[in-house]
Parts: sequence; structure tokens; C-alpha cells
Amino acid sequence: MTAVQSDSETGVLAGDERMLIDGELQSTASGALFDVINPATEEVAGQATDGVVADMERAVGAARRAFDTTDWSRDVQFRYHCLIQLRDALVEEKERLRRIIVTEVGTPIATTHMIQLEYPITEAGYWPEFGKSFDYWRDTGVHESIGGQARRILQYDPVGVVGAITPWNCPLYLNIAESLPPLMAGNAVVLKPAQLTPWSGSELGRIVAEKTDIPAGIFNVVLSNANEVGAALTADPRVDMITFTGSTATGRKVLAAAAPTVKKVFLELGGKSAHIVLDDADFATYLPMAAGAACAMSGQSCTLSSRILLPRKRYAEGLHILKATMEAFPYGDPWDPHVYQGPAISETQRQKVLGLIRSGVESGATLITGGGIPDRLPKGFFIEPTLLSDVDPDSQVAQEEIFGPVITVTPYDTEDEAIDIANNSIYGLSGEVSSGDQERALRVAARVRTGTMTVNGGSYFGLTSPLGGYKQSGIGRRNGVHGFEEYLEIKTIGLPV
Ligand code: ADP
Repeated sequence: MTAVQSDSETGVLAGDERMLIDGELQSTASGALFDVINPATEEVAGQATDGVVADMERAVGAARRAFDTTDWSRDVQFRYHCLIQLRDALVEEKERLRRIIVTEVGTPIATTHMIQLEYPITEAGYWPEFGKSFDYWRDTGVHESIGGQARRILQYDPVGVVGAITPWNCPLYLNIAESLPPLMAGNAVVLKPAQLTPWSGSELGRIVAEKTDIPAGIFNVVLSNANEVGAALTADPRVDMITFTGSTATGRKVLAAAAPTVKKVFLELGGKSAHIVLDDADFATYLPMAAGAACAMSGQSCTLSSRILLPRKRYAEGLHILKATMEAFPYGDPWDPHVYQGPAISETQRQKVLGLIRSGVESGATLITGGGIPDRLPKGFFIEPTLLSDVDPDSQVAQEEIFGPVITVTPYDTEDEAIDIANNSIYGLSGEVSSGDQERALRVAARVRTGTMTVNGGSYFGLTSPLGGYKQSGIGRRNGVHGFEEYLEIKTIGLPV
């Protein structure tokens, strides 16, 4: 892990209040603002403009016009030039963005060096290169056809106007991951960031407006405290596609709203992933990693393996290691460079997590450690790292996504039983298998119905490899060629031989 560069750079920082519509940084007509709360202190850190449906309609109109009337969709070199400008500007503004992320998300500064900041900046450099070398026009040669032969060409076209709706857990990363692939593919984008973390969106809008040649209307950011503004984006007939990351509950609404106009959708939704720890696994290596992962983003990660399945014959040993790691995990003030777990994002989120922990205990689970609000941190939405054992796989706490620093542990007797428990979920985003025998671990991983798997600590995560969900964890894949093609239509052209 990289050390924090300079202590003098630390301290809360408010982001830009304005949204970006049709190339203009602006506030909503009424001047209404909403508060941005610092989750580590519960104090108001600043404000953001509280956009309304009319603002969203203007942004969609601007995106439609810009897509239909500019050369953006056809000029790959120009897109490359603009997105490299954006990447360079993000690098320039990195330390400002770091402080904003710590302020509005409560992410420990030590962990901003990963998914919250350094990774998305790397991603901002990846898409321009990827899109520049992508083959948008492919002569696929001669094919058999009904009654003869034909030469076929595949033309890859942008989908059109893409609405991007993002959550609060990794806001800069997801704003970039949902905006840059469609932009580089030639689409116009309207981004609606989460209301709890508006600045990771407004700052992106400001940087685009001030430091890039992206034409007016091609990239818009609409801020609002109201869900109806995101809903207006999903229903607007001028929008061709919605890309959404968030809860499965909201994802269902997005899908329903997209149906009347048959929009294309990319959805990355919830998860409830299981880590199958086989009886020959090296517990001392894999269990501390598993416990640390659950705490590191305060559990606010959709791909987290929050259900740990332990072999009954090594159950006590496994629980002991998990408990020791969670009790020693450094959490608290996100500005402290030795801290790796910050607060939950809001009081509502904290109460939801605490309620699920209570429901687990009521359904017969044992609270091994944590379970409450730490006395030493009276301010901020902190939750103690929490370990529940003997969790019934059908109980609410084992079925619902918690999004808190909570691990549920369930014992199993046979490999088949472990796989059944892992698959006993409406979700299928991720998962993990640990074993002393890699071939055995791979056989088990192959039977788990999820879009990504970690085997013996190996990382599936990265820009070149597909990531997405089976079942109710989503539709589509992000990253690499699969992720880029989500934002393209394919036109098949037939020619005589
Ligand atoms: P959470 O409930 O954890 O805040 P959500 O999945 O509801 O997460 O939110 C993710 C994003 O979806 C946010 O940007 C939010 O504003 C937006 N959103 C919420 N409700 C709707 C809706 N009905 N239609 C479109 N977007 C929505």
C-alpha cells in the first residue's frame, strides 16, 4: 500500500456546487442547494445545486443535439485528443480530488490510492488508447447467404445518448467507469451522480468544462437530491441507453422505466458473495485477507465476499482468526494514515446495517464480535467490525446485501453443501474459493453461479477483464472489449461478391 504523500495536503475540502449542462457550469434556476454531509463527523461539509426534472430535460436535450449534430460520433482522433486532455487534468487535480473523496465518502486517505482515486485515473488513460485502436469497420469477407454468397462488413456505431446513474460507494471510479467508455465509443453522456456524493460528479463536470475541448452537450452532469431526477433520465425517449450501478431494488426500477422505449441497459447491481474456504486451505493466509476486505471499504462494496463458509471440522480455528483480525482492524478518522476503515456513508445506511445484524441474532446467529456503534467514536456514522457465526443460509442477514463491515459465517460438511449454500442467493456477482489444492478450488469455482471469482487470493479485477453479474446482480459486463462494446451497436452490411 502506498503511503500518504504529504500530511499538509490533508483536510476536508468542499467540491464544486455546480452542474454541467450544455457546456455551461450552472446552478438550478431556483438557486436551491442541498447539504453534503461529512460521514466521519456528521457535519455539513458544503453544498451542491439541487437540480430538478427540468434541468435533466435540458441536459438530455443538449446531449441529443450534440450527438446528432456534431462530428463527435465519427471523429475518433478528436475523441482521443479530448479524453487524453481529461486524463491529464485528472492527474493535475489528483490531490484536490483525494481530499474531496475523503470528505464526502469518508474513505480512509490511505485507501484512496486504490479503487477510489488512482485506479480511476489509470482507467481515464486506458479508454482513449483502447478506443483509438478499436476496429469500428471490419470487412469479414465472403459468407454463404440464402441463394448465393455475400461479402459482409460490420460497422460499430455508438448507441447515441447514454444516461449514466452512479452510486456513492466509489463515486469517482464509477463516474469515470460509466462515462468514459461511452464517450470514447462516440456517445453523448448525461451523468447523474448519487446525491450523497455529488462532488465526485460536479468536479468531473468542472474539469471537462475548464480543461478539455469536449463539445458542449456531449458530457453533462446533473446534480440533484431527488430520485425523480434520475428516474426522469431513465424514462426520457431521447435517451438510447442507461448504464446504472447501484442496488438491485433501484436497478429493477431502472429496467422497468427503460422498457417502454426499449433502451439498451447496462446494470451492475448488488451482490452477496460467498467465500468457500475448503478444509485444506491455508487459514492463516486467506482468512485475515477476507476479514480485512470486509472492513476496508466499511463493507460498502458490491463484490465483497461477505458470507464465509467454513468446513465444520476447522470451524473454531477459522472463527478465531476472523475474530482476531476484525478486533485488531484499524478504523476511525479517515484522515489518520494508519486507519483502513472509515464510517458508513450515512445514518440511514448505518441503521440499515445495524438492523440486519439484529435480525441475524434474532434468527439464531451468534454475535462473535462488534455489532454496534463504537463508544470511542461518538460522532460519525461508524460501525464496529462485526462477525456473526452459525448464520442460517436462508435467514435475512444471509440473503440481503448488508453493505457494512459485517461477515456472516456458516459451517458446512461437504463440498457439495458449500456450493449449494454459495448458490443460495438471488445474486451472482462474485465469490471466492480457497484451498491447498488449486485444481480442486477451480473445480469448485466452476460450479458457483457468479460473474467473477477469486481463487486462492488471485484478483479478477482489472481494466482488461470482464466484470458483471449473473442472476439479479446485473446485465452486461464492464472493462475491456466486452465493456466497450456495451456502448456500441453493430450494423451488418451485405455487399455482392
Ligand atoms: P442507495 O439506495 O444505496 O443509495 P441506489 O441504488 O438507490 O443506492 O442509488 C444509486 C443511484 O440511483 C443514485 O444515483 C440514485 O440517485 C439513483 N436513483 C435512485 N432511485 C432512482 C430511480 N427510481 N431511477 C433512477 N435512478 C435512481
